[in-house]
Amino acid sequence: MNIHEYQAKELLDKFGVANSPGGVASTPEEAEKIAASLGTDQLVIKAQVHAGGRGKGTFKNGFKSGVHLCKTPAQIREVAANMLGQTLVTHQTGEDGRVVRKVLVAESVEIERELYFAVLIDRATSAPVIVASTEGGVDIEGVAEHTPEKIFHLHVDPLLGFQPYQARKLSKLLGIPTAQMKSACVLFANLYKTFIESDCSMVEVNPLVITKGGDVRALDAKFNFDDNALFRHPDIQAYRDIEEEDPREVEASKHNLSYIGLDGNIACLVNGAGLAMATMDIIKHHGGEPSNFLDVGGGATEQQVTEAFKILVADKRVKAILVNIFGGIMKCDVIAQGIINAVKAVNLPVPLVVRLEGTNVEAGRKLLAESGLKLTTATDIADAAQKVVAATA
Ligand code: GDP
Ligand code: MG
Repeated sequence: MNIHEYQAKELLDKFGVANSPGGVASTPEEAEKIAASLGTDQLVIKAQVHAGGRGKGTFKNGFKSGVHLCKTPAQIREVAANMLGQTLVTHQTGEDGRVVRKVLVAESVEIERELYFAVLIDRATSAPVIVASTEGGVDIEGVAEHTPEKIFHLHVDPLLGFQPYQARKLSKLLGIPTAQMKSACVLFANLYKTFIESDCSMVEVNPLVITKGGDVRALDAKFNFDDNALFRHPDIQAYRDIEEEDPREVEASKHNLSYIGLDGNIACLVNGAGLAMATMDIIKHHGGEPSNFLDVGGGATEQQVTEAFKILVADKRVKAILVNIFGGIMKCDVIAQGIINAVKAVNLPVPLVVRLEGTNVEAGRKLLAESGLKLTTATDIADAAQKVVAATA
């Protein structure tokens, strides 16, 4: 799960990570009021969406950038009026962009240096790793591509935790002046603590700045949480903003379906995550593009199969559906009956290809053949993929 920057700031405050005072607004008037309450002529206003690259983004109404520096509350109100309700497109949103429903108004700082700091899980070592760079700011992707030697990796032993000597080493690598070393080390340690105690899968601060006044501050923060640990954090769960999520995934999560929306036009309904991945691969191998990942699980009920079909059918980009089931514990005749009922319930508008294999497969095939449904059956996974790709041509 992702959260907004203004929510991330609340977590940073809770863990004592220095950042800029500010508040969140949903209307230009609220934004102006927050700006006035900050009592400074150094202000910044930022569009709140679950995507980075806002600084370099452009609104569909032509307004440039989701991050603006302002001098007065009146200017803040004016910029807020240009952002709120508008769609911001950045290199992370895709061309559809994201509608801005809230803006963050904060005290701005004069920046001396912009650094990059992130904590995430390194899959190779199954342990946290700190990724940091002297080249923070708006183009960290470019740094990674063109000057990867400017990005440092520091592994953390999950049992020992982030050690003070590692913080000092990191400060040296980042060229942090002696005067700011102590506050930088405190900030690194507190960010690591935030990561561990909140069950994050990623904490990314870009930029982490050294101000002209000599402070060290987190100026932008992106958090990603391990969904499987969210039950331990009702306060973080409350940050969920379903307006920012794929509506197909929101619907699927209501029915406990493991569904991930994609951009293609071939819908897949599969049991087992491994088989679902293999199904997507073979669709691509035969020149098709999957519109989703969907694992209905080993013990899907008929109700879940029906709900899954509804999500696939409601998706306007879907031009054909592939059902690929290997009956192990799940019996093919049960699944076949589920498919028949689901298809009757949703009034199928696109071609359907079904491949069944495993326990009670003969009974399952018989049910499908006698159902009178218009569907194509396939004998194996390659045959199924070829048929479904052909159906979209
Ligand atoms: P992003 O583009 O979505 O990553 O949004 P950021 O919040 O990181 O803002 C982009 C850039 O705007 C930063 O890298 C900074 O250079 C600049 N910026 C953001 N906040 C401030 C601020 O408070 N003061 C100043 N001077 N610049 C800022
Ligand atoms: Mg940033």
